[in-house]
Amino acid sequence: MELDRREIRALARQFAEGELLPHVEEWDRDGAIDPGVLDQLGELGFFGMVVPEAQGGMAFDVATYLDVLEELAWGEPAVALTLSIHSAFAVSLIASYGTDEQRARWLPGLAAGERVGCFALSEEGAGSDAGAVAATAVRDGDSWLLAGEKKWVTNGRLPGGRPGLAVVVARTGGEGPGGLSLFLVPTDVDGWDVVSRERTMGMRSVQVVTVRLDGLRVPDDALLGREGDGFRLAMEGLDLGRLGVAAQAVGISRAALDHALSYAAEREQFGRPIREFEAIQFMLAEMATKVAAASALLERAAQERTTSWSAMAKLFSSETAMAVTTDAVQIFGGYGYMRDYPVEKLMRDAKATEIYEGTNEIQRVVIARDLYRRG
Ligand SMILES: Cc1cc2nc3c(=O)[nH]c(=O)nc-3n(C[C@H](O)[C@H](O)[C@H](O)COP(=O)(O)OP(=O)(O)OC[C@H]3O[C@@H](n4cnc5c(N)ncnc54)[C@H](O)[C@@H]3O)c2cc1C
Repeated sequence: MELDRREIRALARQFAEGELLPHVEEWDRDGAIDPGVLDQLGELGFFGMVVPEAQGGMAFDVATYLDVLEELAWGEPAVALTLSIHSAFAVSLIASYGTDEQRARWLPGLAAGERVGCFALSEEGAGSDAGAVAATAVRDGDSWLLAGEKKWVTNGRLPGGRPGLAVVVARTGGEGPGGLSLFLVPTDVDGWDVVSRERTMGMRSVQVVTVRLDGLRVPDDALLGREGDGFRLAMEGLDLGRLGVAAQAVGISRAALDHALSYAAEREQFGRPIREFEAIQFMLAEMATKVAAASALLERAAQERTTSWSAMAKLFSSETAMAVTTDAVQIFGGYGYMRDYPVEKLMRDAKATEIYEGTNEIQRVVIARDLYRRG
């Protein structure tokens, strides 16, 4: 049965309400989601949202895909983050730039969630300056030898020992962005060594890890796209990735607004619900306005599909999420600061969306560059 966009959003919402929201406090505390959630997401087809139908995927349009991420983020942002990275980097880059053999080999398993995609770009000396990657890939007969250390690989290790597929950025040529290439690296091969896991402020139920690539050997056909095209392809992955971050941020903002609205109706001070105080009303009104604006910008960016629109959506939505979650904590008063209530977690989760997949300073650089280019 073919579902339309509204029905798919409703399905994601139902899943978030029934299967994610009731567990978020526990997952946040334990630093892990229940591995069964990944099976459920696979059954719903959500690992295959941007996989072509020919390879067993759902082939959703971008707007529908973002609706799902937003609804899942409303329930548990870390789950939306997992699917966003999987879809923007592993799936969409293989679908667009993989050879027929690479598509046939990897996409069906990715669509089913048997493998979950991750993206290994950042290093100790290469964050915003992505062109400074130092990890290397050297030809050795009919294979490549990868060496170096990758930082903060989200989903570089998965719950329940599920294998992943990393898109690794490594240097095959000279200095600068033009010397970089992409490699498809299964995370269950020798040489993919997870050396540590970060203790993150928010998004605690995903594993953000440091990986040492130590004499990691992959076959010749692990190269994704052409040699030297890695930076350009990674930036293209980021265009979809940043829309995914914006969707996560809108979901987080909506969740915070929902919690704040309910609490303001329940909590009484001076003999009446706090929502009757003008200060609270104005705060709620501004939160709702920001959420609506972020949502509208995301919808437009999903239609335009340019680097600059993605950057604007990511910038505005993530700053909205930070502002709205901070206000939600304020509306909860002292309870908002306590771990027993849901809004402090949302505030911690929101902060990440201002940083990953390019900090908001870098989004501003990208937007300004596009403005100048267009005159
Ligand atoms: C939770 C989390 C998950 C992540 N997951 C992944 C992942 O899966 N894969 C991956 O590869 N990376 C991942 N990252 C890394 C992330 O993409 C980087 O942290 C980010 O790109 C910034 O790089 P940096 O931390 O080195 O900061 P830096 O680049 O050192 O920046 C430090 C500060 O300087 C500012 N700055 C830097 N350059 C400029 C400039 N030109 N103009 C103005 N300001 C500038 C930055 O905005 C920032 O405020 C993750 C990070 C986090 C927090």
